[in-house]
Amino acid sequence: MARSLNIPAVVGLHEVLDQCESGAPVILDGYAGLLVVHPTEQTRYEYGQIEKRRHEVEVSLEALRDTPGATKDGRKIILSANVELPEDLPLIAESGAEGIGLYRTEFLFLNRVHFPGEEEQTNIYRQVVDASRPHPAIIRTLDLGGDKLPTHLGLDPEQNPFLGWRAIRYCLEKPDVFKVQLRAICRSNPGGKVRVMFPMIATREELSSALAILGEAREELKAAGVPAAEVVEAGAMIEVPSAALIVDHLAPLVQFFSIGTNDLTQYTLAADRTNERVASLYQPTHPAVLSLIRMVVEAARRHDIWVGVCGEMAADVVMTPILVGLGVDEMSMGSVAVPRVKKAVQSLHYGDCQKLSSELLSMDSGEQIRQRLQQVAQGAYPELVG
Ligand code: PEP
Ligand code: MG
Repeated sequence: MARSLNIPAVVGLHEVLDQCESGAPVILDGYAGLLVVHPTEQTRYEYGQIEKRRHEVEVSLEALRDTPGATKDGRKIILSANVELPEDLPLIAESGAEGIGLYRTEFLFLNRVHFPGEEEQTNIYRQVVDASRPHPAIIRTLDLGGDKLPTHLGLDPEQNPFLGWRAIRYCLEKPDVFKVQLRAICRSNPGGKVRVMFPMIATREELSSALAILGEAREELKAAGVPAAEVVEAGAMIEVPSAALIVDHLAPLVQFFSIGTNDLTQYTLAADRTNERVASLYQPTHPAVLSLIRMVVEAARRHDIWVGVCGEMAADVVMTPILVGLGVDEMSMGSVAVPRVKKAVQSLHYGDCQKLSSELLSMDSGEQIRQRLQQVAQGAYPELVG
């Protein structure tokens, strides 16, 4: 959330309040994860210089807004935006994003007493679709649970919420809630196209049940003569390892995959994404995670559907060479990251990235892979990683 609002944030600074009195001058360095309390004149000067350089880079990136996200040898990657709040919508056009790759609808459902009704949802999804024009928007169905818990719904606390009754599991047991959302999504672009995707798919049955309810929602709208989208493309999020492992069985059911690397990393390494005690284990560059991504991309090719990445990995320019090399077609990220990732993509050579990904996948350590990627990024676009 902080990232999408472009607010620097550092977490896990345990005893910091014991070391800094109210009103103390501090520098918050969200890039390096540092809070400098009572900075010296020299430190202030150095940060002033860093800020100036970063500002110059930001200004130079503005010129890329209307250029395509393509590598030097012409491999086109769609760079789209992740959106959490309606306030993020104006940033999409400013950033040069080609549409919305992930609209997280759950923020609409949090912090309120009643779920939003069909009309309210339709109006909001319509704003999302409009803000994305002329490019498409992917609306993700409700991903409640795990780290996104509604406080007021009286859901029983669970011992392992990340492994519990969440996202598509919740929706399939609440077809009334689910269908209202699907109807609203279909109504968001009457006569046009909408894209919808389902989070936390772990089995083929879940995906086919979700698609069946989507089919019912469409039939109901048609029978009632309610204007709805002509074309509805459906996708599955691949963020549970079981889904990555049965991806050939999922592909025939959908038009696209979107890899949620935040959860895929957490579930592959059994490392809670919100627990700083295990943060060192939480490695998107772990060979197991990269192998799963490769499997998904290869299956998508075999079945002739496209595949994107919408986890935080897509926003990190250090990760760009491996995602390009693995062959993803789309990367979706907070709008603020789009110009930087575009610059990174434009500085890379697809052929080289493919060779690099083979090299990286033969390594056995996530840390080693990260370091090699850091080196590649430093060589190709030092101004973005310095
Ligand atoms: C992900 O898991 O990578 C993802 C994009 O979904 P979220 O972060 O909302 O769980
Ligand atoms: Mg997720």
